[in-house]
Formats: sequence, structure tokens, C-alpha cells
Amino acid sequence: MSTVRPKGVSRRELGLSARQLALEAEYQAFAMQEVAPLAEQIDRTEEIPRPLVDRLASAGMLRGAAFDEPPDPIAHGLRHEALAYASASVEGLVNVHLMVTEALERWGTALQRRRWVPELATGARLAALAITEPEVGSDASSVRTRARAAGRGYVLDGRKKWITCGQIADVFLVLARCEEGPATFLVPRDAPGLRIEPIRGLLGCRGYMLAELHLDSCAVPADHLLGAVGAGFSHVATTALCAGRVNLAWACVGVGQACLDAALRHAGERRQFGHAIEDFELVQRILTRMIARIDAAFLLCLRASHERASGGAAAASMEAAIAKYFASTTLTRVASDALQLHGALGCSAEVPLQRYFRDAKIMELIEGTTQILETMIARQASSRARVASALGACAGNGREQSASL
Ligand SMILES: Cc1cc2nc3c(=O)[nH]c(=O)nc-3n(C[C@H](O)[C@H](O)[C@H](O)COP(=O)(O)OP(=O)(O)OC[C@H]3O[C@@H](n4cnc5c(N)ncnc54)[C@H](O)[C@@H]3O)c2cc1C
Repeated sequence: MSTVRPKGVSRRELGLSARQLALEAEYQAFAMQEVAPLAEQIDRTEEIPRPLVDRLASAGMLRGAAFDEPPDPIAHGLRHEALAYASASVEGLVNVHLMVTEALERWGTALQRRRWVPELATGARLAALAITEPEVGSDASSVRTRARAAGRGYVLDGRKKWITCGQIADVFLVLARCEEGPATFLVPRDAPGLRIEPIRGLLGCRGYMLAELHLDSCAVPADHLLGAVGAGFSHVATTALCAGRVNLAWACVGVGQACLDAALRHAGERRQFGHAIEDFELVQRILTRMIARIDAAFLLCLRASHERASGGAAAASMEAAIAKYFASTTLTRVASDALQLHGALGCSAEVPLQRYFRDAKIMELIEGTTQILETMIARQASSRARVASALGACAGNGREQSASL
């Protein structure tokens, strides 16, 4: 990754271990050699070539956290940053695949984990997550797809829309509603009653290979239910979404860094009024704003990954939401700034600025829109404040009592 700023030194100072820095270099080398040369083609054709998926698999990019020894969420984040620096579309494929893997690792029975996880880790099967429906987006707990017990399994009826990798995934983690509550099911691509319709012509992340799923009396065996009936949204889907948010936040840092590197290079080379444009104070202000925003997003990603490493699920979900919220909203500004600094050239196909700009907007819509995260973060903070003040009152009462004894 030919970053303009000397990132290595500051990252070491921030506490990245020698192993993490070595892995980062490995991920960056892979992304720049294998992914970056195909990024424009992927954007143009709206397809990730199968040989690239195979190379991602053989390089271990599709392996979930359970295969790390020791598990290292920061190294995982660095992987998403490096991939997104080269292509946000390719990072998206890896992200949804790992979101499903993580849900399986966390909620699968021993038998389910043995059956599915190794195949996902080697890329023998690709996974996708199917929550959204034509009528249900942000309000994901209200999905209308129905699942009912029938014979030795379940039958699903409904539609899922905007499913990343829907065109090529081998198995879908589908959120549906049973009579007793939400439940998630592993639905193989060849399940009877599943029809897949590609969606093309997206604004950005055009290699996501989106699809709409039509589930018409789609039958799956009983052991394809993942987690308990009733826990499909609150536990299984939430595990996947929390993992996806952290990965996506790191991806935003990757795209943001690509924007910044392009902007710094261009500002040094482009001359107007007899000067390189980097000499103009208004240009310096834009560059400074970009640098500060990306650095801040990077630090929030580090914190969110630290939180995941320390295992505090509630805190991890809050830190993941904050990191994704800040990194994605920041990225839309950074991408816009980078394009602005390129002038007309930024709007052309000669440089990847318009791809970054289009991809950036998508990041604000997926894994929780900006508005949903704003609501969620404020609500969680208010509830924490209430608990803290209740605990404070208890402690205060205790002090008064002991004082009166
Ligand atoms: C490229 C792409 C890839 C995707 N991949 C997947 C995937 O793999 N799997 C999957 O299941 N889904 C996927 N989605 C769907 C995505 O998760 C949804 O688009 C997202 O949840 C928002 O839902 P919606 O589009 O229906 O918007 P809506 O929920 O209809 O929201 C419309 C607008 O209203 C706002 N809004 C809604 N509710 C509130 C509220 N309570 N308060 C304030 N504002 C609110 C939203 O922020 C938004 O601005 C993908 C979408 C895109 C664009």
C-alpha cells in the first residue's frame, strides 16, 4: 500500500504489536497485488471475478476469528482496512461472509459448527446475510418472512432484498419470524423453493453482487435453525451486525486513507497560479481536516476492536456503533474533500476518486444507517447514565447508613 504518510511509526507507537504490524504488511501486500489491479474492472462490470474469490480464500482472508491463535480483533480490522483501501466491494464480500461465520461460531451447536465453519473458512462455501426485505429495512426486528415447522424441518415464505453477495453465495443466514418469535435459518442456495434474482446498477460498492431472494415454501431441515427460536434478532443477527459494524468501520478508514493518499499526491503535483496547490492555505485546511478525521476514525476502530478482544459484549456493541457511525459519516466528507481537491479530474474515469465517493455513500446506509446509529448510541448512553446514577444513589445510601450507624 503506497501510503503517503509514514503510518508505520505512529501505529507502533499506538500499541500495535510486531505481529499485528507484520500481518498488516501481509494484508496490504495481498490487497495491492491481487485486489487493487481489479478494482476498476469490478466497479465497471459489477462483478468480483471468481479467481479473485479463490485467491482470497487461499490467502486465508475468509477465515473467521475462531481460527486465529490467539484471537486478534485488531489484526482482523487491519485486514478489512487493507482490503477496502484497494476495493470496498471486495471488503464487502469478506465482511458479510465473516458476519455469518461469526454468528455460526457464537450460536451454532457443536454439530453445526463442525459442519459449516471449516467449509466457510476455506471458502468452499460463501455465506451471505439476509435480513432486509422490500417492506422492512431499519426496523429489522419486524421482518415479515414467515417460518413454520413442517415435518422434519421448517418452511420459509417471504422476500429478502439488497443481499450482498446474493448472486454468488452458497448459503444464506435468513432472519424470519416463527409464531414464537424471530429465528435465523441457514438456507443453502439449492434449497427447494429459493429463487435468486440479481440486482444491478447500484450507486456504489458495485461489486457487492446484490440479489433479491424469493422464498416460496422454501424447505430446510430442522438442524438448519441457528440459535433458539425467539433469539433470531436479539442474539444471532445482532452478533453478526456487531461484527459487521466494526469491520465496516475499519473499511471506512481504508477507503478514507486511499482518498487522502490520492489527495496528498495530487495537491503536490497539480500547479495553479504558479504554485503547487498544496501551498494554498485553503487546500491545506482541507487536507488537515481529512487527516484529522481519518486518524480519529482509526483510533475509534482500535478502541472498538480492543473492546471485542476483552469480551464485554454490551460495551463492544456500543463501541462498534460509535466507530461505524463516526468512520462512515467521516468518510463521506473525506471522499467529497478528496474529489473537490482533484477538480474536474476527480469526476473522470482517469482516477478512482468518483469510485471512492460513490462507495462512501453506501457505508452510511449499511450495518445500520447513520440515523439508526444516532438513535442507538444516544439511547444506550442514556440508559448507562440512568444505571450509573441509580448505582450512585445506592452507594450514597450505603454511606449515609454506615455514617448513621
Ligand atoms: C449496498 C447495500 C448492501 C446491502 N447489503 C445487505 C445485506 O447483505 N443484507 C441485508 O439484510 N441487507 C442489506 N442491505 C440493506 C440495508 O441493511 C438497508 O438498506 C438498511 O438497513 C436501511 O433500510 P432501508 O434501505 O429499507 O431504509 P429505511 O429503513 O426505509 O430508511 C429510510 C430512511 O429513513 C431513516 N430512518 C428509518 N427509521 C428511522 C428512525 N427510527 N429514526 C430516524 N430515521 C430513520 C433511515 O436512516 C433512512 O435514512 C444493503 C443495502 C445496500 C444499499
